[in-house]
Parts: sequence; C-alpha cells; structure tokens
Amino acid sequence: MAERIAVIGAGQMGNGIAHVFATSGHDVTMIDVSAEALARGKGTIAKNLERQVKKGALEQAAADAALARVQTATERDAMANADLIVEAATERRDLKFSLFADADRIAPPHAILASNTSSISITEIAAVTKRPEQVIGMHFMNPVPVMQLVEVIRGLATSDATTHTVMTLSKALGKTPVEVNDFPGFVANRILMPMINEAIYCVMEGVGTPEAIDTVMKLGMNHPMGPLTLADFIGLDTCLAIMDVLHEGLGDSKYRACPLLRKYVAAGWLGRKSGRGFYDYRTA
Ligand code: NAD
Repeated sequence: MAERIAVIGAGQMGNGIAHVFATSGHDVTMIDVSAEALARGKGTIAKNLERQVKKGALEQAAADAALARVQTATERDAMANADLIVEAATERRDLKFSLFADADRIAPPHAILASNTSSISITEIAAVTKRPEQVIGMHFMNPVPVMQLVEVIRGLATSDATTHTVMTLSKALGKTPVEVNDFPGFVANRILMPMINEAIYCVMEGVGTPEAIDTVMKLGMNHPMGPLTLADFIGLDTCLAIMDVLHEGLGDSKYRACPLLRKYVAAGWLGRKSGRGFYDYRTA
C-alpha cells in the first residue's frame, strides 16, 4: 500500500490533496516550481487543520502530527521515493506530459502515477510513460478536505491492480471513489462544465445578472451554489481549459467555450484566486 505520497502542485487542489493524505497518516511531499506557492499551500493546510480542530473534527495533536508530515520541495527529484504520485499542477497538456515523463523516470518502478486533471486524457498522459498500466486519474473535488467524491478514471491501459489500489486508498482517506472510464471531461466535468458555460452565455446575452442566474439555479434546482459562484470558485482558467478539451475531444460545437469566459480569462479575471471573476472578491 502507498505510504509515501508526492503531490505535484501546491495550489488550491494540491494543498487539499496533501491535507487529506497527511491527516490519514501518510508522509507527503508537496512539489511546486514556485516556493511562494509552497509556502502559501502549507499555510492553507495549517489554517484548514486549525478549522477542523475548532469544529471538533480533529484533535490538536492529530493536526500537529499531520502538518509535520507535510514536506515541501521545488525539485522534481523529490518524488524519488514516492509510492504514489498525485499530480495537481496547472491544467496544461504539455505541462502534464512533461511532469509524467519525469515522474516515470524518477519514481520507483512500483509507484502509481495519478493525475488530478479535470479533463486531460489519462490514456494520453499514460502514453508518455513506460508504465501506462500504473497511470490513473484521481480526480478530487474542491475543497478536497470537505468533498466526498473521488472520480477514479481508468485510462485504456490502466490495470485492475492499479484501480483496486487507488479505490482502496481513496476509501481509506474517508472518500467515496467512483470508477469511470477515460473520455473527455470524464463524468463530472462532461456534465458540469456545459452547464456553467451556458450560465456564462446567459450573462453575455443579458438574460440575467450573475446574481439572478445563480439564484434561479440555487432555489429552483436546489443546487447548493449557483453555477457562476462555482465557476469563480473552480477558477475561470480551469473552466476554459476544460471546455476547450471537451470541444476538441468530442468535436461538437455545443461544447464551444463562451466568448465571455475567454475574455475574462484574457483579462486575468480568474475568479476567487485572482480576486475577480463574475463577482468581485477584492473587498471580501
Ligand atoms: P492552481 O492554479 O491553484 O495550482 C496549480 C499549481 O501548479 C500552482 O501552484 C503552480 O505553481 C503549480 N505548477 C505549475 N507548473 C508546475 C510544475 N512544472 N511543477 C510543479 N508545480 C507546478 O490550480 P488548481 O485549481 O489547484 O488545479 C490543479 C489541477 O487540479 C488542474 O489539473 C485542475 O484541472 C485540477 N482540478 C481543479 C479543480 C478546481 O476546482 N480548481 C477541481 C478538480 C481538479
């Protein structure tokens, strides 16, 4: 079973993934190109652990021990003794391919290489390695410490043994894993993103304000969060990247990204993480 975990990327997903592995007793190394992202990521873990202690969900000693299990590194070589690598770096194909080629070279032969990608093909990622049967999607939801689901994605070559290990490990983290097959957007984003994209078209066409659209979906459909609030939370750059993958991978114009989404991303309005998206978070 995987004891030592390397998490690549210390952003909003990476630090959440490191958090849940550390609280369930694993040694975790977070690897990021940015030392600042690592410091911020570790700070977020500390803050979220403190919140769990305040809520009575975790003992102080367990929180301290979990934080002590999280190491940070800026060099890819830090994955050299990992049993499981969970990649949660920026959603770019070229970047994921380069990271997986390096992970394959650096990690021990038994290691499983997982990606938290929202939409990039696990089969294609696996093909850059010499161990495609040990490559799998481990798609956590945001915020990772809170959300129950792990979408476990089998690439074309992923073995039963790898799938079994990752399903078992996800359950040990207190999550509910669901096994799906590799196809653009998998299940979660194949269904969620076109809905978010349509909500953005409604803003662009003046059908309603972001507040009105979110309220309709919250009160009318019983969604806990409106689609535009959710888009800001996910990150508009990530939403755009996923729409482009759906469009390219499925070849149907119904998946074209809304021009307003593209414009916001071009302007650097990426949602909560940049302070502005469909809502303004700069004074919040
Ligand atoms: P983010 O922008 O918050 O973090 C990405 C991190 O990757 C940054 O800290 C960046 O410095 C780091 N990075 C970039 N290049 C790197 C490299 N070469 N080596 C190591 N680190 C590198 O993004 P995020 O929202 O955490 O998304 C990360 C991944 O998780 C993406 O694949 C995304 O599709 C996926 N995902 C996101 C969500 C969500 O709600 N945001 C949900 C599920 C999955």
